[in-house]
Amino acid sequence: MEDRLMVSVSGVRGTIGKTLTAQVAMEFGCAFGTMLGAGKTVSIARDTRPSGAMIRSAVAAGLTACGVNVVDLGVVTTPGAALMTRTLGCDGGVIITASHNPTPYNGIKFLQPSGVGLTAGQAQRLKETWESKQFNLQDSLHTGGESQNTDTHETHLSAVCAIVDPAAIKARGFKVVLDSINGAGCVGSPMLMERLGCELVHLNHEPTGLFAHEPEPIEPNLTELGRAVRDAGASVGFAQDPDADRLVIVDEQGRFIGEEYTLALAAAYVLRHRKGKLAANLSTSRMIDDIAAAAGVEVVRAPTGEANVVEAMQRERCIFGGEGNGGVIDPRVVSVRDSFTGMAMILQYLAETKQPLSELVAAIPSYHLLKIKFPCPAGAAGTVAGKTKLAFADRAGATFNESDGLRIDLADRWVSVRASNTEPIMRIFAEAPSQSDAEALVQEVRTIAKEVIG
Ligand code: MG
Repeated sequence: MEDRLMVSVSGVRGTIGKTLTAQVAMEFGCAFGTMLGAGKTVSIARDTRPSGAMIRSAVAAGLTACGVNVVDLGVVTTPGAALMTRTLGCDGGVIITASHNPTPYNGIKFLQPSGVGLTAGQAQRLKETWESKQFNLQDSLHTGGESQNTDTHETHLSAVCAIVDPAAIKARGFKVVLDSINGAGCVGSPMLMERLGCELVHLNHEPTGLFAHEPEPIEPNLTELGRAVRDAGASVGFAQDPDADRLVIVDEQGRFIGEEYTLALAAAYVLRHRKGKLAANLSTSRMIDDIAAAAGVEVVRAPTGEANVVEAMQRERCIFGGEGNGGVIDPRVVSVRDSFTGMAMILQYLAETKQPLSELVAAIPSYHLLKIKFPCPAGAAGTVAGKTKLAFADRAGATFNESDGLRIDLADRWVSVRASNTEPIMRIFAEAPSQSDAEALVQEVRTIAKEVIG
């Protein structure tokens, strides 16, 4: 990753002591405080990174300097912080986290009163306010105050337990292995497992922010988890990312089943009880389409980005949704990705079906999802998408979604092409029943891209 401060719709991200300094953090606190106005209240939370306290203090100084009152939630998960922002009736929220990026990074994420990230328009206004350095600094009698609130874990766990049947899970006495990567999930997760009557083998359970392995929850980083599940004879293995919004699963044989299965399995569980529309982003596996079709419900596809999925869920009144990267969203708990919701749903699904996880996985039609990226000059993506659309125009049953690049759905497969929002690269994704079919789709679009880019 190039070492520069990233300021995007998802917030601010940079390296500590280099691009993300106390000064930058304080300025963003001032900018958010200026945008909201004096007298407003903002929650502030952080993950376990060693730099978290420093960035938190700097952001809080900026907010209070602009007359905003700060409620410090301490070290909590991203979904917990989002839920508390809404529950406490705050006018906004701030989370100090760099999600799945390694320890040298940290970030600042800004929330709306609902707990959802800023809209693109709000993020742009924040950036412009930060760039202008025209801050609404208050005099000695009008700076903001600061208070503490330690209710996050309790509030979050109560909301999660309310959407499952804890007694039914408890009755099964599951053994669970969880890798919390020394992140924000370390404290609340054992509390959840206790309430659900699960025996927990907790890997990387100290909230130090010193990550025991690369923190992105993907297969190469989770070898220890699979082994621990086998050694413990556990029913399931879970892994969280450092801010505990994403969840991935290892089956009872210690096999990494892939991050796409988190949303698919949770959707299958949800639809056993309630029928309604689902939502997923455009790069999420079509497993969710099969699951939805079997239940006679629709899947709404949203552009990449958590806020886009949440917006689609609200607009289309979806009962459940998320992202294929291990992000499940149940608006009854909180309208952001939540690993706690995911763990509770998977355990409830196991309890109800009395089947091992590997069987529940095998019951879902499987696909091969391929992802490639390559350099692409700015502006060329539109031409590639246009030529790709033409090339597929006469395929039987082809449907085209152009809300975020181009995604073409065929009967049992799809391919998408889109430019990155942050780097001069293009991504081609394809998913098909076999590896060779997925490769053929990727190659077909790659060939078109080569003709355009040269
Ligand atoms: Mg995360």
